[in-house]
Amino acid sequence: MPDRRTARSFRWTTALAAVAALAAPAVVVAGPAQAAAPAAAAPAAAAPAAVEAAAQQAANVWPVLRAGQKGANVSALQHLLNFRGQTLTVDGDFGPTTTAKVKAFQQSQALTDDGVVGADTWSALVTTVQSGSSGSAVRAAQTLLAARGQAVSVDGIFGADTAAKVRAFQQGAGQAVTGVVDTTTWLALLQETALDRVTLARQIRDSAAITLATAHVGGVHAASTARQNIVDTANGLGAATSPWSDVPNQRVFLSTAMLNGLLRLTTTYGYTVSVSELVGGDHSANSRHYVGVALDINVINGSHVGSGAPHAAAMAACRALGATEVLGPGDAGHSTHIHCAWPRP
Ligand SMILES: [Zn+2]
Repeated sequence: MPDRRTARSFRWTTALAAVAALAAPAVVVAGPAQAAAPAAAAPAAAAPAAVEAAAQQAANVWPVLRAGQKGANVSALQHLLNFRGQTLTVDGDFGPTTTAKVKAFQQSQALTDDGVVGADTWSALVTTVQSGSSGSAVRAAQTLLAARGQAVSVDGIFGADTAAKVRAFQQGAGQAVTGVVDTTTWLALLQETALDRVTLARQIRDSAAITLATAHVGGVHAASTARQNIVDTANGLGAATSPWSDVPNQRVFLSTAMLNGLLRLTTTYGYTVSVSELVGGDHSANSRHYVGVALDINVINGSHVGSGAPHAAAMAACRALGATEVLGPGDAGHSTHIHCAWPRP
């Protein structure tokens, strides 16, 4: 088991050291790459308690992937397996072939070969990539960036655009903005994509920093309020549109990028916000609200937008968190709220 508690601290430390020491066969690593993986040295030299604490922390954040799972994390895993010499098709589906390749990789690293990808296996898979790098490890990073709302081509070439998207992600995640995907950034990328829609919605539902509207400006429909959209999502359902909208009486799954962006406005940037609409309400005919990637905020830090709220700073935070359509006071129809929308699904 990759996340077994016994002996993890030793294995975590050695795995990190292995990451730092490994040659990168398919990646051209330029300049300060090794300096960007400093975590190896610190735990190795630290007291056992600190090592164990670091291991516990790591165990809390690396996602566990196993057969049957699908999505961007699985695609990234498959790219990283290819980087490590295990040839397989990248389809985002953790099937029998992926299990076999994971086991083969684990055997090659003297890890428990159970086909389950946890902290030890991830630590052995990831490698630092940065400007000038190329190959499957870069594809893995680009896949995760795109899944985090940082739209980038998955072409295996770490150019200026990829570096910019890495910086944007790091800023949004509250990390040091280096443009280098080191172990810390891999961990953040994988952790965030592992957060599923339901988990994010529950965190939003329960957040003291987020108020969710229980009524609309333009009509009465309790099933499509911002609060009910989140409650439904937290229960695994789609969010309802309003009967008077352009897409009446539908259910739409809220995007994880948008949900994560909303949470991060409060956790990373420290805002308290009131959300006036998600997929409910009436918007322009082809609005991103109707596909579950947009949110409207009408109160920030206790002040109404347009009446003293720090809307410009909050809008900048939305952009840093991956929103690509951000509107507010000064834009038509947005004198009293800000609108942050992530890329369409
Ligand atoms: Zn809007």
